[in-house]
Amino acid sequence: MKGAHSLTTPSRSALACLPLGAGRDREGLCLQVRLGSHRVLLDCGLPALDDLPPDTPPAAWAICSHAHSEHARGFLALHRRYPDLPIYTSEPTSALLSLNWPEEQPAPFWQTLAWRSPRPLAPDLHVQLFPAGHLPGAAAILLAHRTPQRTYTLLYTGDFLLANARLVEGLSLESLRGLAPDVLIVSGRYGTARHPRRRQLEKQLLAQIEEALIRNRSVLLPVPPLGIGQEILMLLRSHHQFTGRELEIWVAGQVAAACDRYLELLPHLPAAAQNFARHQPLFWDDRVLPRVQRLAAEQGALPQRFPCLLVTDSGAAWRACRGRGRWLLLRPEEFEPAEEWPDWDDDLAALPQETYLLPDQSDGRNTAQLIHNIRPQHAVFVRGSAANLADLTSLEELQSRYQLHSPAVGTLVELPVGDRFIQPETPPAPSMVGEIEETDSRISILLPPTLSASLHWSQFADTGLVEARWQGDELVLRGLSQRELLRQSRTAACRSERDCCNTCRYYQGQRCSNPASPLYGFKVTPEGYCPAFAGVGSGE
Ligand SMILES: [Zn+2]
Repeated sequence: MKGAHSLTTPSRSALACLPLGAGRDREGLCLQVRLGSHRVLLDCGLPALDDLPPDTPPAAWAICSHAHSEHARGFLALHRRYPDLPIYTSEPTSALLSLNWPEEQPAPFWQTLAWRSPRPLAPDLHVQLFPAGHLPGAAAILLAHRTPQRTYTLLYTGDFLLANARLVEGLSLESLRGLAPDVLIVSGRYGTARHPRRRQLEKQLLAQIEEALIRNRSVLLPVPPLGIGQEILMLLRSHHQFTGRELEIWVAGQVAAACDRYLELLPHLPAAAQNFARHQPLFWDDRVLPRVQRLAAEQGALPQRFPCLLVTDSGAAWRACRGRGRWLLLRPEEFEPAEEWPDWDDDLAALPQETYLLPDQSDGRNTAQLIHNIRPQHAVFVRGSAANLADLTSLEELQSRYQLHSPAVGTLVELPVGDRFIQPETPPAPSMVGEIEETDSRISILLPPTLSASLHWSQFADTGLVEARWQGDELVLRGLSQRELLRQSRTAACRSERDCCNTCRYYQGQRCSNPASPLYGFKVTPEGYCPAFAGVGSGE
């Protein structure tokens, strides 16, 4: 173990949690939780098991919350190392899990649990699964340990989504309301960020695709194998804006394999999706428009009509299509295919690109809502960046009611339970006082330099440009990211096709060389635009 505590360090409290992977960046999620003398492993998203002992398993049972690789990819290695360790998961996850090991296609080495029905692991330890939204099969896991004095309870949400998606219903707060477990371990992926409503985000994504098609560009949608790709396909198949449209949608790689698995899951999908499937195929369809087909370059199954859409995680599939027509790269925010997948080379950087937001996890507001409904004594945040988790643990509305934690890998968190809530001694989130300087030409707001000590600073100050807007009497400042600047510049380019980076005399080697431009020094796309545009012919 890299951290201060080992798997066998005894804990003082009846309940404790030791993250072996806290789900930050690409480390994957894996938690050892302790209830009395029992040890349970929740998820195994570790890329390698280097830190686990060769023959003593880290727990007596392991439970997989859902099939996403950051939660599940380590289970095969775990099973091989400790063949006697029982592994449990939900029925729908059972159909998806082996997608994590496409080369090996192992026979099921796990056991399934039915939704909501408690199952004894030991005479004094029970497990119960609740649907968590997010992905078909994704489960919130409730563990209950009975002792002569009291019953200790721990709920782990895994990744969760309250909103209904196309292919999975949202987590039902009703089913968990007032559960009041001693401990809630919850995903804090998006920190305190707030997202627009899901329907609105879907509409926005469709508008981006529409806009590209109008401009005669095919759209490459690189997505992880499981979840978001199937959601987008279902959206395109069922939304009135695209139904009946002469358009080819191609799907390749593990995304296509996952579509096949979804077909096995039909009885577990939402009623609307089941109803849809009674009238036409869920995905594969060369009859009803828009057509959805499986791309297979070696069999000649390749796009015929352009512009088209390609939804895939496969670099080979993209290479088979890229020479044909003009393309737009449309990717989820926070997801860089060239960084995530070694199979994708950086020719993607030369494509014009846009991002979209179609979150598969709840935002800060819904996370707080979930916590208030469940009313735990301790809330342990995992699965987010250090900055996002720090935001959640410093939220006054949570701090005043619950004991909050966001442990790093290898840090054992003791979770002592009392009969009543003990106010934790966490300092409130700092605010600071500044000064306003107003002259005829500008207004400056001066703040103390300690501001830059925040984990958020580098992101806020990334480009040196901020956006300010009024929220009632309050002025809210937001740092502008490089991506946003590029996007803004592209929007401006739509207004004037001729005034763009390509025709600007400061466009050199795909970069902007105009010190007066907000894009100065950045790599820009030829159709980019900024207010400092200077035509090739214009002099100074
Ligand atoms: Zn997930």
